[in-house]
Amino acid sequence: MTDLKTLAGRMALDAARWSGSSTLARRTTRPFGAIFTLHHVSPCPVSNFPPNGHLSIHPNFLRDVIRHLKSSGCDIVDLDEAVSRIEDRRHDRFFAAFTLDDGYVDNADHAAPVFRDEAVPYAIFVSPGLSDGKILPWWEVAESVVMACDHVVLPWRPGQAIDTSAKPAKRRVFDDISIHLTTICPERLVADTAWRLAEMNAGLTPAPRSRVMDWDRLAELARDPLATIGAHSMTHPRLARLCDDEAYAEIALSRHVIAERLGTMPRHFAYPYGSTSACGEREFAMAATAGYRAAYTTRLHALTPARSRQMQALPRLSLNGYYQDVRHVDVLMSGLPGLWKDVR
Ligand SMILES: [Zn+2]
Repeated sequence: MTDLKTLAGRMALDAARWSGSSTLARRTTRPFGAIFTLHHVSPCPVSNFPPNGHLSIHPNFLRDVIRHLKSSGCDIVDLDEAVSRIEDRRHDRFFAAFTLDDGYVDNADHAAPVFRDEAVPYAIFVSPGLSDGKILPWWEVAESVVMACDHVVLPWRPGQAIDTSAKPAKRRVFDDISIHLTTICPERLVADTAWRLAEMNAGLTPAPRSRVMDWDRLAELARDPLATIGAHSMTHPRLARLCDDEAYAEIALSRHVIAERLGTMPRHFAYPYGSTSACGEREFAMAATAGYRAAYTTRLHALTPARSRQMQALPRLSLNGYYQDVRHVDVLMSGLPGLWKDVR
């Protein structure tokens, strides 16, 4: 079922298109390119649960977007070429690049075949902690727990089993978990707390762990000449919540660990979560010091002269599971900012 927020978002995108405001935005912001963020790509939605549903798109939608871009005369390029065009201010031809965060197995199974069929380059941003299986994506653990269990015990309220048999209660408890792990729990304890949440609730399926590619799968994918492997921190934290030393280690060390495991030093970095609350000027400076050629947020903008000045803070547009319509992608590429929320 479509929730009201999603419906409102779709209406806003349609209204922007029909009213001509996206055309006006294009004249004002002068977009010359777009970098897309994807997460899961799968023929079966990885999640129908509203808080996570935006993270999964169908391979056919990916194919539609690629063909639409090609038919519009857009060049689809790899990240190095995108960065060269930004640096050289080559804005004469609109271009796009595709990036996928977290390194999910379905990227190899369902996204890579589409990119290969269409001869389109792509980049995958990898967190060694996720690929080792030591870190669980907490938002997937939370979804698995609340969807599988009629009663949920939270690690920070161990004596209390919360009734989650009804759907609204599932959503409410998911939101409680999200608030706790993103604002109350110290960032260094988030990973352990997610494990404890999984262990304390027997209904958890192993899905969150098995959904991320291990190093063998990544090595196989890294051999694809169309693929670029980038870094996405060591343990996928909200970097802005860490002290200087911890944040820098997350950014710099992930580069070297990936190089050691896959044989190529990453030149590109994507900030976990990527929103204004998760990364800022301190992290942008750290990415430069760590030697990355460019780094990417999830701040929702097309590439425009105003939004491409800082190579360590490049914006991206999310291909969102709830807006799988190429007409909506056109509106986003117009430079009309901020209709979609920041994504993970
Ligand atoms: Zn991520």
